[in-house]
Amino acid sequence: MTRILHRSSRTEPPLAVRAEGSWITQTGGHRVLDASGGAAVSCLGHGHPRVVEAIRRQVGQVDYVHSGFFSSEPAEALAEMLVGHEPGGLAGAYFVSSGSEAIEAALKLARQYFLEVGQERRQRFIARRQSYHGNTLGALAAGGNALRRAPYAPLLAAAFSHVSPAHAYRGQQEGESEEAFARRLAAELEAEFQRLGPDTVAAFVAEPVVGATLGCVPAPAGYFRAVREVCDRHGALLILDEVMCGMGRTGTLHAWEQEGIAPDIQVVAKGLGGGFQPIGALLIQGKILVAIRDGSGSFKHGHTYVAHPVACAAALEVQRVIREEGLLGQVQALGQRLRQGLEARLGQHPHVGDIRGRGLFHAIELVSDRESKAPFDPALQLNLRIREAALAAGLACYPGGGTADGRAGDHILLAPPYTATDEEIDLIVERLGAAVELALAGVA
Ligand code: PLP
Repeated sequence: MTRILHRSSRTEPPLAVRAEGSWITQTGGHRVLDASGGAAVSCLGHGHPRVVEAIRRQVGQVDYVHSGFFSSEPAEALAEMLVGHEPGGLAGAYFVSSGSEAIEAALKLARQYFLEVGQERRQRFIARRQSYHGNTLGALAAGGNALRRAPYAPLLAAAFSHVSPAHAYRGQQEGESEEAFARRLAAELEAEFQRLGPDTVAAFVAEPVVGATLGCVPAPAGYFRAVREVCDRHGALLILDEVMCGMGRTGTLHAWEQEGIAPDIQVVAKGLGGGFQPIGALLIQGKILVAIRDGSGSFKHGHTYVAHPVACAAALEVQRVIREEGLLGQVQALGQRLRQGLEARLGQHPHVGDIRGRGLFHAIELVSDRESKAPFDPALQLNLRIREAALAAGLACYPGGGTADGRAGDHILLAPPYTATDEEIDLIVERLGAAVELALAGVA
């Protein structure tokens, strides 16, 4: 009997005893193709020798220093690599240990920025329904996922309000163009600014491609340009949460590059360190850094493990590998193969309502009826059944639930490593297709 409080207290997860490349081996020797890198984390797969060596080297050199007393070479080099020369004006970095910590820091940084520039009325945040920004209380308050929020509602700050997600499959109306849909959503955001009082809003927070809650949903064309304009018109910041979709996962280093805009604060995590070490980061516009430097002189925030040298060394090597091995191009090519494979295998399936995503970040959404897009009864737990069937067949995929209107719904998210082979991508499609059919045979 385990002494760990696992996610499910009724079933114990299998033990992973080895992880190498795209594969995880369980006790007993069952080998599983890791098609989602956990929750879209393992962008280089497992055990990449360059990253393992970089970690080993760093632990032997400087294992830990407190960021209030010292900086470290890998932290400085990682910041140098990530900001200062990319398009979009991001000029500074702040390293933490997870996506939730990064979101918390981004919210506080936005608030502090407005205090520094004398706009203390700005204390509200607007985010989107069915979004996920993390599980700590500030991040959970920002997120708009009703099911995750419900048990903790009394603890969540009232400073957050939510507008509609940009979810074409469920939100775009009959006969409405993508551009018109984007304009309608931007008008809703504008109305929310007006309702709150535009000079009370600190920031709008959004995932460029929605991950865990809706399953790899990119926004309609023009959406991010339109919401950027709304924020600019009212002097609010745009915080983009690329914890899941960032650092190459969608085929460009940052997902926002495909939208023709740049954020004021960008939040990254999973693909930054690829799971080799826990690390997240804020990438920050110069005007915010200047406001703090010329104002109070310090970001009123901190954790024990800020800019942890070993985590930064791991992330630095992950990012070097992505650049030096041309992995963004590989994400684009493998992403196309994955998309085509899913469409060929499941595109006509009567219970696959939508196949969507970008790069190596794709999901399928299951529906009980393609015409009405009605989700399956949540009591059936279809997404978990698919996950179980897939695992038994040697495939790890990431199940999720949620529809834009907050009903349960079922989707399966795929996020294979950028280093996967063509054969592994084909195997993912084949095994997922079989698992979907097996699970549906038990419910439909
Ligand atoms: N933001 C997004 C978009 C996420 O997908 C996640 C995690 O799944 C988080 C924030 C929280 O990150 P973490 O689990 O590292 O705290």
